[in-house]
Amino acid sequence: MFAGVDVTGVDDLVASPSARIATQMAQDAQRSENRCAAAKVIAAGRLHAIRFAAISAGDDGMGPQFGNIADKGATVEVATALGVSTSKATTIIGLSILLDDLPDLRAAFLHGDMDFYRVNMIATTIAGHEPLVRKQLEAEAIRLDADTAMSHRQLRDRLEEMCIELDPEQAARDRRDFAEQQDFRVKPDRHGHSAITGCVPAQDGVEIDGRIAALVATLCPGDSRRIGQKRAAAHLALIRGETTLSCWCGADDCPGASGAPSTELVPAPTLVVVHADASTLIGHGGEMTPWIDGHGAIDPALALSLSADAPWRMLYDDILTAQSSTSAAGARRGPLQPAGTVGCIRDGHRQTSGHTPAPGPPPGALAYTPSRSLRNWITDHDQHCRFPYCNQPPGACEIDHQIPFDHTNPTAGGWTIRINLALLCVLHHHVKTVGLWHAHMHPDRSITWTHRDTVAELTTHPVR
Ligand SMILES: [Zn+2]
Ligand SMILES: [Zn+2]
Repeated sequence: MFAGVDVTGVDDLVASPSARIATQMAQDAQRSENRCAAAKVIAAGRLHAIRFAAISAGDDGMGPQFGNIADKGATVEVATALGVSTSKATTIIGLSILLDDLPDLRAAFLHGDMDFYRVNMIATTIAGHEPLVRKQLEAEAIRLDADTAMSHRQLRDRLEEMCIELDPEQAARDRRDFAEQQDFRVKPDRHGHSAITGCVPAQDGVEIDGRIAALVATLCPGDSRRIGQKRAAAHLALIRGETTLSCWCGADDCPGASGAPSTELVPAPTLVVVHADASTLIGHGGEMTPWIDGHGAIDPALALSLSADAPWRMLYDDILTAQSSTSAAGARRGPLQPAGTVGCIRDGHRQTSGHTPAPGPPPGALAYTPSRSLRNWITDHDQHCRFPYCNQPPGACEIDHQIPFDHTNPTAGGWTIRINLALLCVLHHHVKTVGLWHAHMHPDRSITWTHRDTVAELTTHPVR
C-alpha cells in the first residue's frame, strides 16, 4: 500500500469540498508513488544481480551451460516476479544499474521528488559521460527539477544541451553512433488505420515537419478537417511527390478545391534554421551552443557541416561580440557585426537584417503588434508555451503581453518589448486572461506564476 498516505481517507475526501485537502492528498500520494517506484527499481536490480550471479555460477541447478544467458534468465525472473513484460523489466533493471553511478539522483528518487519516467529520462540522458561531467549533469538535473516547472521534454532538451556544452566531441560521437537507430516503420493500427514511427537526423525531421506545415498552410480556413488529418494528407502528398493539397472547404471559388496547381497554393519555401556563433561557423568551436529551430541544441560539428551545405539557411547570432571583442576568442574571429546584430547566411552570402539596440524604449515598443524580428526573437528564446510544464510549440502559441498593452496610453506600460512578451498557448493565455494564474516576468525573462486562490508559485524560464 502507499506508504505515508492514509488511503482510508479517500472516501471522506470524495465528500469533502476542500480543494486544499484534495491538493495535499494528491501531492502526498504522488510522492509516495514515486518512493514506491524507487524501491521497486532498486529491489528489482538487486534481484537481477543475485539471480545473474547464481545462474552464471551454475549453482541453481540450471547448469553452467546457461551462463551465457545469465542476463536473460535473470531478467525473465524479474519480469515474472513483477508481472511485467521482459522489455519493461529490462528498462527497470537498466535504471537500477544506472542509478548505482548517480547517487544523488537515486536519493532524490527514493525521497519521492521525481517519478519513474523523469528519473529514467535523466539517467539515460546523462549516462555514459566521464564521472566529472556526469556529476555536473546530475546536480543540474536535480536543481532544475526542484527549481523550475519544466516539462520532461524541456528538461531533457536542457540536459542534452549541457551534454554538448560540457563535451562537444562526445556529443558528436554520440550523434554518429545513434545513427544506427534511424528507422521508418509503418504498422497496422486500429479501425482501418496504420501507425507510422521513425527516427531521422534532426535536420531531416525539422525539414519534414516544415514541409508538411507549409503544405497544410495552403488550405483555406473553410477546410474543417482536424489539424492532424490535414497533416496526414500532406504527408501522403509529399510521399507521392505532389506539391499541392486538395482543399475540402467545398467552395467553388477556392483555388485548392480541385488540388490543381495554383500560384496561390505554392507552399512557402521550407528552411531549416540553424543558430550558431561566428567561431563555430569557421570551425574554431563556439562559445554558444548551436541549435536548430524546432529541435533544440546540436553539437558544433553538425552545425558546421550544415553551414557548408548550400540549401541550409543559417541564422547567425553574434551574441558574444559585446563581451568578448577584446578577448582572444573575439580577436580570432576577425571583423564582426555590431553587438545585437542578427544576420543570415544563405548560400554562403551573409545578409544583415538586425540592428543595434538603443537606450530607452526601442522602436516598436509603443505599437501593439510586435515586429517580425521581435516575434522571431521571442520564438527563438521561448521555444514553447511559458506556462509551467506546458510544451506547446510556437505554432500553437500566441505572443502575450505579460503586462497588458495600454491602447489608450501606450507609454503608460505594457510595452511591446522583449521583457514584456512571452509565448503562451491558447489554453494558458486564457487561464492568465481570466486571472486564475497571475504572471510576473523578471528582467531575465523568467516568469513567476502565482495561483489566484492557493498562492502556489511556480517559475518558468526561457530556453535561451
Ligand atoms: Zn478551400
Ligand atoms: Zn501552454
